[in-house]
Amino acid sequence: MSVLDRFRLDGDTAIVTGGNRGIGKGIATGLAEVGADVVIANRTESAGREAAEDIADETGAETAAIPTDVTDETEVQNLASETVDRFGSVDVLVNNAGVAIHEPAEEKPLDDWQKTLNINLTGAFNCAKLVGREMIDGDGGSIINISSMSAFMANYPQCQVDYQASKAGLEGFKFQLASEWAEHGIRVNNINPGYIRTDILVEDEEMLQTWKDEMLMDEFGTPEDIAPLAVYLASDASSYVTGASYLIDGGYLVR
Ligand code: NDP
Repeated sequence: MSVLDRFRLDGDTAIVTGGNRGIGKGIATGLAEVGADVVIANRTESAGREAAEDIADETGAETAAIPTDVTDETEVQNLASETVDRFGSVDVLVNNAGVAIHEPAEEKPLDDWQKTLNINLTGAFNCAKLVGREMIDGDGGSIINISSMSAFMANYPQCQVDYQASKAGLEGFKFQLASEWAEHGIRVNNINPGYIRTDILVEDEEMLQTWKDEMLMDEFGTPEDIAPLAVYLASDASSYVTGASYLIDGGYLVR
């Protein structure tokens, strides 16, 4: 098999949480381009449906939208079961859904801390557990968590102690899951993006400039910069890789 053939996902099915926009949509499109059927799992039904249609039109892949709140176990169970019913298996899970709330730690309401942890960390656990069961019953698979460079550093000048904790949590989560599920043929890896131009970034010119000044690449990343690594981690090209984390940050952490 040629090197490029090892990146193909023909016959595989991938679930991308938060796949309707931003980094998730970029990844879902990339996976579809190399042959995967793709399921978009986010809360807003119309946005999920539109993204699934866009990706099918652009790539010719089979796609579906299954509205899902990753914090709700019943909805995640439905996501896992309906995906297998419709496509026959689930081979790739991308835990991408996430939020960030900027508030100084000393003023942060407990509700906001819990919301961030629930979506960014518990959501990834719910999906891994319930989709992972289908992978264990099937032929194994690949789980990719969209963590962040924030797992390894403090962000500045914004305050987001809950976000940092959730992303650092995804690093320990990855190690343990990779260890427990290697025997089932499931690989678990993280992607750690730097600042990528999406709706999650605040439109504050001063803040945007502060971040930009720290990047060696001198420009924000795009979802298309993240998709190729997700294709690598989803496919047989990375068959010897598990428990790893990969920065894509335009050199932000170098300084
Ligand atoms: P966006 O705000 O563009 O996308 C967030 C996505 O998450 C949306 O599709 C949203 O859809 C979905 N989502 C939010 N809450 C839930 C939920 N409870 N259940 C299901 N889906 C949910 O942000 P990005 O694309 O930038 O972020 C994607 C991931 O990348 C996040 O985990 C983020 O932390 C991470 N990341 C982003 C960086 C950046 O600079 N952009 C840097 C590092 C990491 P809906 O509201 O319809 O549910």
